[in-house]
Amino acid sequence: MKCIDSHLHLDSYQFPDIQGATKELNQQLSHANIEKGIILHLQIQPWSIEQVSEQIAQYERLEAFVNVHPDDNNVLAVMEKATKQQGFCGIKLHPRLQYLDMASKSLIEVCRYSAILNVPVLLDAFPDGTGLMQGFNPLEYAALAKACPETRFIWAHMGGHHVLDMMMLAKRLENVYFDCSFSLLYFRGSSVPQDMVYAMNSMRFERIFYGSDYPDRDVQSSLTESIELLSNLKVTSLQLEKLLYQNFKDFMQW
Ligand SMILES: [Zn+2]
Repeated sequence: MKCIDSHLHLDSYQFPDIQGATKELNQQLSHANIEKGIILHLQIQPWSIEQVSEQIAQYERLEAFVNVHPDDNNVLAVMEKATKQQGFCGIKLHPRLQYLDMASKSLIEVCRYSAILNVPVLLDAFPDGTGLMQGFNPLEYAALAKACPETRFIWAHMGGHHVLDMMMLAKRLENVYFDCSFSLLYFRGSSVPQDMVYAMNSMRFERIFYGSDYPDRDVQSSLTESIELLSNLKVTSLQLEKLLYQNFKDFMQW
């Protein structure tokens, strides 16, 4: 089955240099027969936008989203250069790790500018204990999407155990999409995977993408285990094909 992995990181723990990290990721994707992979650049990792840009230019299979902070100097210029000259095809924001104020003017400006650049914004939406203590609130994600109606948002990890809230909100927000990375396998044995599949069905398997969140899990086992879990929850091969491949391909207009 054809596949695009829409949520990947480079492994900065195992690999001191970016060349090794990128090569390993490309190999894992190749072995798993995955046509394209999206690397999410992270400011907390030791590698610059320039370095990630140089790497993705060398691999047909690899694309990347650039991580910016709304309060960075010249953030809009950085986004413009990254998307127009350095090969990035999206913006990544991490509310928890970057301590983002979800209602700030600068964040709204970054998200609106993404629409002008015609690239999507991926927002981490996995409420772990830290995120919950920081006040993770699905309504803030919805308010941001509403404030930026031209911007296409990906709520990564489907909101974790808040998946049903996030899905109900997304039904009122045409510019919101999901990836099911991490949450699906993390919450195995609980009701969350069932709720995720319920949400997928409720959205007719539209606006939802597959991702592994490598290196948290290796690329192949994440794919195999996700397909197995989804099949056990009665997801059909036609639905799987949309989730694993066609939805993201259409979304990126590839
Ligand atoms: Zn991630």
